[in-house]
This record gives sequence, C-alpha cells and structure tokens, in this order.
Amino acid sequence: MSTAHILGFPRIGAHRELKFALERYWRERMSADAQAALLETGRALREAHWRSQRESGLTYVTVGDFAWYDHVLTTLAHVGGLPQRFGLDAQHLTLPQYFAMARGSDAQPAMEMTKWFDTNYHYLVPEYSPSTQFGAGVQWLFDEVDDAQRAGHRAKVALVGPLTLLWLGKERNGLADRLSLLPRLLPAYRALLERLRAQRIEWVQIDEPIFALDLPPAWRDAAAQAYAELAPHAPKLLVATYFGDASEHAARLAALPVAGLHIDAVRAPEQLDAFVEALEQTDKVLSCGIVDGRNVWRNDLDASLIRLRSAHQRLGARLWVGTSCSLLHAPVDLRNEAKLDGELRTWLAFAVQKTREVALLRDALTAGRESVAAEFDTARAAADARRTSTRIHNPLVKRRVDALTGEHATRRSSYASRAVAQRARFNLPLLPTTTIGSFPQTAEIRAARAAHKQGKISHLDYLEAMRSQIRIAIDRQRAYGLDVLVHGEAERNDMVEYFGELLWGFAITENGWVQSYGSRCVKPPLIYGDVYLPEPMTVGWVTYAQSLTDKPVKGMLTGPVTMLQWSFVRDDQPRAQTALQIALALREETVALERAGIGMIQIDEPALREGLPLKARDRAAYLAWAVRAFKVAASGVADDTQIHTHMCYSEFGDILPSIAALDADVISIETTRSNMELLSAFETFDYPNEIGPGIYDIHSPRVPGADEMAALLGLALERIPAERLWVNPDCGLKTRDWQQVDVALTGMVEAAKKTRAALQARVKPYATT
Ligand code: GLN
Ligand code: ZN
Repeated sequence: MSTAHILGFPRIGAHRELKFALERYWRERMSADAQAALLETGRALREAHWRSQRESGLTYVTVGDFAWYDHVLTTLAHVGGLPQRFGLDAQHLTLPQYFAMARGSDAQPAMEMTKWFDTNYHYLVPEYSPSTQFGAGVQWLFDEVDDAQRAGHRAKVALVGPLTLLWLGKERNGLADRLSLLPRLLPAYRALLERLRAQRIEWVQIDEPIFALDLPPAWRDAAAQAYAELAPHAPKLLVATYFGDASEHAARLAALPVAGLHIDAVRAPEQLDAFVEALEQTDKVLSCGIVDGRNVWRNDLDASLIRLRSAHQRLGARLWVGTSCSLLHAPVDLRNEAKLDGELRTWLAFAVQKTREVALLRDALTAGRESVAAEFDTARAAADARRTSTRIHNPLVKRRVDALTGEHATRRSSYASRAVAQRARFNLPLLPTTTIGSFPQTAEIRAARAAHKQGKISHLDYLEAMRSQIRIAIDRQRAYGLDVLVHGEAERNDMVEYFGELLWGFAITENGWVQSYGSRCVKPPLIYGDVYLPEPMTVGWVTYAQSLTDKPVKGMLTGPVTMLQWSFVRDDQPRAQTALQIALALREETVALERAGIGMIQIDEPALREGLPLKARDRAAYLAWAVRAFKVAASGVADDTQIHTHMCYSEFGDILPSIAALDADVISIETTRSNMELLSAFETFDYPNEIGPGIYDIHSPRVPGADEMAALLGLALERIPAERLWVNPDCGLKTRDWQQVDVALTGMVEAAKKTRAALQARVKPYATT
C-alpha cells in the first residue's frame, strides 16, 4: 500500500478563525481571556485539520505545519536562534514575546518580513550574528504531537530544515557566512528529532526547498554532513524539495542518509524520471507531489495516475503520493463557495478537496482505478468540460492575441520626442508633485462599499457616495498644491479584485482566503478563462475627478503582471499568454481613458519583481514576456499621453534594464525605507526616462517633516537630473488617515517648492541634458 500525505494544511481556518482570534488577542493587549480563546482556537483548528486529513483517507496527518504567526519564526522558537536583540529565552518563550518579535514592541522593531520563495506568503527573516546560539526551545511541537496521537491520528511531523532555516536568514553584526552556524545549529535539530523519535513519530518531513534554487556549492555540499549527523538520531526523514526543479541534485540527495525525498512534480514534472532513476536501486521512498498546492484547479486524476503508474512500476510501495508543496498557499474549502458559478465550481479543488485527491490517487495506484471509479469519472468529466467550455475559450480573444505584433508593444515615438509633446501639453513645473493613487480608505468608504455589495443602497446612491469621496480627495489635493492629481481609488477594495470583478475570465470567491503573513490574508481572484474587457472599468470615476479640476488627473490601473501574480491563474495555458490577454484588456482601457480626455495614465506593476523565477536560467524569458505585456497595455496611446508606472515592495536594482525597457514615461518607486539606497543602482545604470523616488514612507504612521523630505529629494538629485525627477510618496495612502496625509503631503509639496526654488536660483545646471 502506498502512502498518501500532504506537506501541510492551511492554518488560518476556513473562516479565518485564527486571524480573528489573533486580532482579538492583540487588541485586548494579550489579556488572559483572549489568550485562552486564542489557544483554544489554535487547538480546535489543528484538530479539525487533522480530522479532515484523516477522513480524506491520508495515511498520515501532518503535525508541525501550524504556527501562531509564521512557521519560520516558530522553527526558530523550536531550535533557539531567536534574534538576539530581543533578549529572549526560546525555552521559556511566551506568546507575547513571540508576537513582539513578529510585530515589534516599544523596545524593538519587528523582525523583517520577506516573501517565501516565489509565493505571496511572507515569512519573518531570521537574524544571525557571530554569537547566535541554538538550543532547546518551546514545547509547542511536542504538545501538538501528543494532541494528535491522543486523538488517534497517525502523525507525520513537518519541519523547516536546517539548511533552509539558515539560508533564509540575514547576516548581522559582522557575521560573514551564516552557513558557518550549521555546526551550532545541528545539535539543536538533533535534540528536537530525538524527542520526536521518543514520541514514536515514524516520519519527519524536513523541508529543504532551497534545493530548487541556484544553490552555491558550499550549501549543497553541506547537506551530506548535516543529514549524516541528524539521521541516526531521528525518526525516518523525508527531505522535501518544492517550488521547482531539484533534479540537478538528484544523485546528491539520493545519497543522503535519509529515508526518502519529496519532489514537486507540478512545477517541475520533468524531474520525476530523474528521481525515480536515482532512487530505484535504493530502499528509499520518493514522495511525488502531483496535486498542486499553489493553485485551485481540480486535479486531472487520470492524467496524474498515468504518470504515477510508471513510477509505481519501478518503486512499488516506495512511491508516495502527495501535494506539490504545503497547502498553505491554497484556500481551505470549496464547500464554502455557494455563490460561485456552478460549472466553474466543478473545475476547482481547495485544500480539503486536494487532500482527498491525494488519497484517491493513492487508492487508484494500489487498488486500481475501479476502486475509486466514481470519483475518477467525475474528475474526468470536469477536465473534459473545462477543456472545451465556451466559458473559458473565447475565439475573439485568441485571435486578438495572435494578431499582436511588435508594433503593439512599442510607443509611436521615442521617450525623447514624447517628452517634448508632453511638456508642451502639461506645462508642469520642475520637480512635479503627485501621489501614487489611493487616499485613505475610511470607515465611511468601507461602509458604503459593503452596503452596496449587500444591496442595501441603490447603485445611484453608491455612485454618489463614491463621487463625494472623489470630491473630498480632489479638494484636499488642491489644498496641498499638488501638480498632478488622482481620483483616490475609493471604489477599490483591492488593486486586483476590483478589476477581477469587471473583467470576463475572472471570478471572485467568497471565502478563498490565503494567509499572506500573520493574521493578514488575501483573497486572490481566479482567472479561469480568456480575459476580455466588456466595458471600460475606470473611465467614469477618473473623468468625474477630471471634471472638478484644471490640473491633470492621472488614470489608475493595475498592470498585467501584477494581476497575474496576485491571482490564481489558469494552468491550461502559459502564464505569458494570460498576461497578454490581460494586457489587451488594459490597452483598451487606456485608450478609452485617453479618448475621454485623460492625459496621464498610471499602470501599477508592484509585483513585476516578485514574479522573477527562482532559477537564473528562467529569468530572461520571464522578463521578456512581462515587459512585452506591460508595453502592450501601455502603447496604444498618443505621444502626448503620459504613461506612468509604479513599483514597490522589493529591491529591483538587479532588473533595472527591464524596468527601463518598460519605457514608461514616468516611474515612481519605493525608496524611503532604504534611505534612497535603491537609487545607488542608478549610478551605474542610467535610467533614461522620468522617475519619482518616494520621499514619504507611507508604511509608518509617522509623518516626516518637510526638511526631512527635502533632504531625501536632495539625495535623489545627486543621481537624477532635475528635469526627469518627480516628487511623490513611496506608495498609495490607503492605509493612512487623512490627518497624517494632510500634514505629510503639505510638507512634501513644501519640500518640492523649496528645492525647486534653490535649483532655479542656481545657474541651471541641467538645462542641456
Ligand atoms: N495605485 C495603488 C495605490 O495607490 C498602488 C498600490 C501598490 O503599489 N501596492 O494604492
Ligand atoms: Zn506601491
């Protein structure tokens, strides 16, 4: 009998129970009552998730995938190695202390957060210094194992592996190489694994996803030593790779003294053969991750079975069936989507359904397809319907994409000539001031949106509510003295979902929440079909704003790559193809805005950088189609229409040539948090068009003074000619309140004016560039 397992289950809860318990706990300042409620919520969620896995027919339930905030921080709490600046003792760590590291305290800023590989999940970044010590940690995991066993479950433990734990951290206080900490870290893992063995845990899945990266030789070589030290004292170890192709390490991993390996056969199907080959002559297990942990589509069980069978012939019961990665990245339960279109629903599987798929594949493998024929037949019918559904396939869209030529992805003239036309049209002052798009999302706005959604106010009342917000935003911007205004995005709950609701080919779920970090969840739209724009999406709002002022109002759109990156996307065509379809829809929108008299249009691409593939060899191809998609969206307009773009979140010094290749007339970027560090990349790379490095950090409630912002502007001027420099905040202002925004933007305009005056007083130093 083969084994069926998943790499992890979403911890947040089908109704975001963990989120609400956490937020209550924080709100009530860690009161005893709230703590008891939180502990109980965690316990109940774990138990419910184990029960669901067992009822689905999995061989093991997974323990250790739960975390109060983040699994990387929780792993640190297990093996010591907490950031030293907090001065905490891992062995006696309390929940308030755990959250102080995750969220910051009066004494210490929070740990840094960054994306977990190429997902939208953010982990807390370990901080390693020369004096970092590891050792015994919290009891949580052992207690969870006890709970699972007491409830009669067969438990497999999942843990972040030692190499990955070190890799994901940052070196501080002069530590030269965090890999040098491995000898200190291993005894802590060893002690942990020994205890799990004493608890009669049979298998520990030890996650080493870094084997899907371009791993430096020293790191990959360290695996042999690490696992030789751990394996003799541990339960059977299953070293899990995921998120990509690890086949270059197949022989090395197969030689580790561990009992099995897991591979991601969804992201990198071709590696299955290499690993079967590498393990065939051993007695080790190969766990084949064939059910997609990162997407929402129902598995084509028959197709999967064919692939598994050939591996099964060679490995027999040593072939395990699993999810590609943890289901952390999938929504919890499709049964909570009553409002979703009935046909679309038959094509989907969320975490609970995926768990069942894994068990079904195992059953078909060991007992024959007949033993689970009904469920296989349903899956086949769904797969067949999906392949041909007119809901998905729109010949018009396909024809349009096929008809795209290089011309569609190129502005009519070069930036230099466009700049001349745009200067003549807009007549902006030196260092023009603007914002990134959104203004505070007040309780009033949210209430109006909710009332509209629930049908409690009429469409016209909603329209008027939003228009009055636009009037407020325009009035305020006029009072600040900004040069280029925006309508404020009051009508948008989210920069992707808003468009997803208005485009064909997108669907919005009710409860398809996925943890982003801590208690924060996102509800990515689902792109299931050919994307098509039925009617303009933003023209009404923006032209209304423009009617209130003589200053230019910037139209505001989310770019094709960001829409793709922050949605669940089709798995039946390449991402590039979907991106181009979205781009075509956006191109129509930009043209409609232009026709309605809007002269500036911003196409946000904050997710362009995060879409970068994990392996260097795949990056050029990605950048090529991503840039092309943006340009298709942006190039339908005349020379004197000014295209802006905006990017934030990540360092993109390494992809500057591609950012320049977008050929946006103006780009605004986030630079304040790094104190303009990002701009140093512009010393070696001459960015050809206009640029607005943010001078107001919108992530913090703190409002900088005009002088502080002027100083940042001064730093920017050292690298960017004044003619091509814009003045703006780092990002949208939706999370701030009006009081902060009033002070900040008044100060920002003042900083721009002062700097402008100082520049003009000098002999025009940049006049000829
Ligand atoms: N225009 C968006 C806003 O201002 C951009 C948000 C983003 O870059 N994340 O909110
Ligand atoms: Zn931003």
